[in-house]
Amino acid sequence: MTLLKAVRGTRDLLPPETDLWNRIEATTRRVFARYNFGEIRTPIFEDTSLFARGVGEETDIVSKEMYTWEDRARAQSEKAQSLTLRPENTAGVVRAYIEHKLGESGLLQKLYYIGPQFRRERPQKGRYRQFWQIGAEVIGPPSAGSESPLRDAEVLEMLASFLDELGITGWTLVLNSVGSSTDRPKYIAALREALAPVKDQMSADNQRRAETNPLRVLDSKDPADEAIIATLPKIADYLDDASKAHFAAVLAALDACGVQYEINPRLVRGLDYYTRTTFEFTVGGLSPQRAGAPGTPILGAQNALLGGGRYDGLSEMLGGPKAPGIGFAMGLDRLILTLQAQAASAPEKSAPAFADAFIAPLGEHLNAPALTLARELRRAGLRIELGDGAFRLKKSFEIGNKLARAIILLGEDEQASGILTVKNFATGEQTKIPASELAQALQNR
Ligand code: ATP
Ligand code: MG
Repeated sequence: MTLLKAVRGTRDLLPPETDLWNRIEATTRRVFARYNFGEIRTPIFEDTSLFARGVGEETDIVSKEMYTWEDRARAQSEKAQSLTLRPENTAGVVRAYIEHKLGESGLLQKLYYIGPQFRRERPQKGRYRQFWQIGAEVIGPPSAGSESPLRDAEVLEMLASFLDELGITGWTLVLNSVGSSTDRPKYIAALREALAPVKDQMSADNQRRAETNPLRVLDSKDPADEAIIATLPKIADYLDDASKAHFAAVLAALDACGVQYEINPRLVRGLDYYTRTTFEFTVGGLSPQRAGAPGTPILGAQNALLGGGRYDGLSEMLGGPKAPGIGFAMGLDRLILTLQAQAASAPEKSAPAFADAFIAPLGEHLNAPALTLARELRRAGLRIELGDGAFRLKKSFEIGNKLARAIILLGEDEQASGILTVKNFATGEQTKIPASELAQALQNR
């Protein structure tokens, strides 16, 4: 029989690596709470048209990476519905914002999420078909200040603090402005014009994009097209005064609080909904242009830890009220790879992989008392491994030595007297401790 394996591009996360996942998630919740974000959990699958409308038909995600199916498990009288595993979470959050009329409070909504996303991409280091994102959105009616450049700067400052607190070193914040719905069309027209005479020399993907969505050409990762792309007009020259002022205010606020950044005029990001500020945090010494740089990148060909930007028109694109917003999505898998590669001396240590004690019942009739003892110690907050009365003493010692700092022997004498025998593996010291003092004694070790 052929063995079943996890599907290509998906993988199991096992201990002790999951300790690191938990630590990152705990740091996320702690840091984001300081900025007064609350958690949102949206469904893993949504109506396909949410992504088609929200993310954009001509994006890589929608045109070739989505897991979509016709859902036929509905009543026979009803038509099948096209559903999609979420490839990203911003569209779902904005759908929820509209559906639950969150804007009616008149306040800014500050929402974060942690969860799996799905894209049918070619699996490689740092790129999977099921991957995890940590993301956040700040969205609300304009009267709540949702359009203010201060929101952008605050989100970027939060990310800088988050990465620092996590212990990630050597990150770079790369920023750009892609303009508003009024100035962007002018730039796109200029881009189309500049592409017309040269597009035939480009890759098939870029030839198509040059026609359908020229902005996406800038986002291309095809090294062969780099030379042509470098000659194309820059969006900074097409921003109107309002967009320019907005971007300048974001930069000024970052300067004021000491968050460093680089500007990359080509950073337009892969999703259609972005307006004004767009950004990525990269790591690994590769240039933000993504190609041609020397060195061994931590994340393989992927150097973006996270990406995000402003999406002032997204709510309206989805049929909702005017609700400007800014958000980001961070690749949790890539945070893990980076922390592992940097062997981060993080300020907060992960939980020890060792148990505080291994309980060895000396005979099967002592299994139930051993469970009772384990229950008491665990309730006192200790990490306990429970052996088995069927094990011989030698085996209990061997297993205990692998898993725990100490072994507690529970034989008939101990059961009768209520005084346990405890051996510390590191020191070899063996002591008798009354059951009532055991938790205290183990805690003090
Ligand atoms: P990339 O340029 O690496 O393809 P992207 O622009 O498609 O990234 P976004 O859609 O903005 O990425 O997602 C935000 C973050 O999610 C990325 O910066 C990355 O860290 C992570 N991410 C995206 N796709 C994957 C994937 N297939 N596997 C692992 N992480 C991913
Ligand atoms: Mg991608």
